[in-house]
Amino acid sequence: MLSFEKLYSMGHEEVVFFSEPSCGLKAIVAIHDTTLGPALGGTRMWNYASEEEAVEDVLRLSKGMTYKAAISGLNLGGGKAVIIGDPKKDKSEALFRAYGRFIESLNGRYISAEDVNITVNDIDHVYTETNYVCGVAKSHGGSGNPAPYTALGVFRGMQASAMKTWGSKSIKDKIVAIQGVGSVGLELGKLIAEDGGKILFTDISEDNIKRFKAEIPNAEFVEPDAIYGANADIYAPCALGATINDDTIDQLKCKIVNGAANNQLKEDRHGDILKEKGILYAPDYLINAGGLMNVSIEFEGWNDSKSRRMIDTIYDTTLDIFNLSEEKNISVNKATDLLAERRLESMKKIQTTFLGRGSDHRFPGSKVRHSML
Ligand code: NAD
Repeated sequence: MLSFEKLYSMGHEEVVFFSEPSCGLKAIVAIHDTTLGPALGGTRMWNYASEEEAVEDVLRLSKGMTYKAAISGLNLGGGKAVIIGDPKKDKSEALFRAYGRFIESLNGRYISAEDVNITVNDIDHVYTETNYVCGVAKSHGGSGNPAPYTALGVFRGMQASAMKTWGSKSIKDKIVAIQGVGSVGLELGKLIAEDGGKILFTDISEDNIKRFKAEIPNAEFVEPDAIYGANADIYAPCALGATINDDTIDQLKCKIVNGAANNQLKEDRHGDILKEKGILYAPDYLINAGGLMNVSIEFEGWNDSKSRRMIDTIYDTTLDIFNLSEEKNISVNKATDLLAERRLESMKKIQTTFLGRGSDHRFPGSKVRHSML
């Protein structure tokens, strides 16, 4: 249940319910923290079993975005939105335009984008009503499909993990087990193959298996349940969350876990177990932030090389996190949260300086916001 106690405990600033009965719009926007800038995060459409479930989801996801933006060095805060409804039946131009008008009314405190079940077409309707949205079509000056950029970040994380484990960032001759060869898994596979890595892969979609084989003929298919125990150096989860859990953790033979999926650890303690087992875990919400970095550039005028340069920084940040985890003898997931919290705390502190009358440069992220207006 939504309560002030809950908001205080999770650190949220604002939660807004938008309703427009004429088109059946039921949307909830959660703004978690705007210390670093406007809250950016996608909109998810889902047929939630209850409003309570939708609230839980939007609170959890928006908090995750604060940490993701902070660790990625972005001048953005954390936010997320959910639209309650059946994506197959309830979508309409009116629904997304009504939603866009509500986002406009938040005056830039929240910026939306695509998430689960929201397409570029849907976002284009939102964009008709507000500029506070990104991930719009390339024909509208947007950045298009984020998957190649997400995959690039995951690959930079993999290079940092290889450097930490084997003293070289090369993936040549290493065996990588990819779980899920959808949009990101496919692009990641291409980068691994280009670097001379060997690939084992699994998926449950015949079409995606065929597409992957056509693109990387040397890659070897393994059954979905066999991916955890595969003889691989690196396990790259690119399908589902929570695949590092009590059932799978003892099957792993790899030295590194490094993939695109969100929330790979079922529980925090699984990060500790990986550490005890000597398996290096690349921080999921940092290394899969390439897509977020890519859309954040839309507000300055999107440009491929600018985006790639920003994503390249994931390599150094991943190494910093590994070093902090070692120095403090804590799991990588805890070290990642700690580094993100340190940045948030230090940026909060510098905002106490009065900038003089007439200045509206109130927080570092205002640069992002101003360039949109
Ligand atoms: P996708 O839907 O295109 O691909 C997921 C693939 O996983 C599909 O081919 C699907 O068939 C397969 N899959 C599903 N269940 C499986 C199972 N049990 N075993 C094996 N394969 C299974 O999704 P995506 O955009 O490639 O994203 C992959 C992951 O990365 C997701 O967890 C997503 O949340 C995360 N992520 C994606 C992006 C992005 O830019 N797309 C950004 C950040 C994080």
